[in-house]
Amino acid sequence: MNYLILVNKFEPLTEEFDQKLCLIDFRGKRFEKQTAKALGSMLDGAMKENLFIQVVSGYRSADYQQMLWEREISKLMGEGLDYRSAVETTGKTLALPHCSEHETGLAADLAIEGEDDVSESFAKSSQSIWLEKNAHKYGFILRYPRMKEHITGISFEPWHYRYVGAESASIIKQNGICLEEFLDFYQDKYLDSTKHPVKYCASPIKSTENH
Ligand SMILES: [Zn+2]
Repeated sequence: MNYLILVNKFEPLTEEFDQKLCLIDFRGKRFEKQTAKALGSMLDGAMKENLFIQVVSGYRSADYQQMLWEREISKLMGEGLDYRSAVETTGKTLALPHCSEHETGLAADLAIEGEDDVSESFAKSSQSIWLEKNAHKYGFILRYPRMKEHITGISFEPWHYRYVGAESASIIKQNGICLEEFLDFYQDKYLDSTKHPVKYCASPIKSTENH
């Protein structure tokens, strides 16, 4: 499993991705195996400070994502928006099928105790504040932070946490960057130190013409 896999509207998952996934149950949702373990440790860590965090969403299949997408579009069109505006509005918080991190099993939507859906107000909760401060220790990042919307293409989502592993999560947190920036700035360094295929470049000067 590549814990640094990038999934967004420009980098959709392939059809075969799903078949290689090893998912396990955690609090009624499914997650990639190592992600479930790390999520358990993180939520236990929060519990030690009397903060109960509800798991609202984990793995979703592409079909399920498609259903969510269609449902949101019809809801907005029912409220009077035309198709184009409905797509634009939906695209700010919901990914198209094959473009959602939830299809990797590496993402979790979190809420306060008793909630069964995500909420903007989560950002102000003690649980969210604790997560923003501590999630990286368990390998998670706040995937869609404030002020990075122009890079991630997704509005600030205080509830969406993504597993990338503790080393990468700490670098992302310390530098105040998002996953896309991390992959651009640190990819070569990271790939050199792992068993991922190494795209070694002999020249230390990296072309930036595509960025
Ligand atoms: Zn999410």
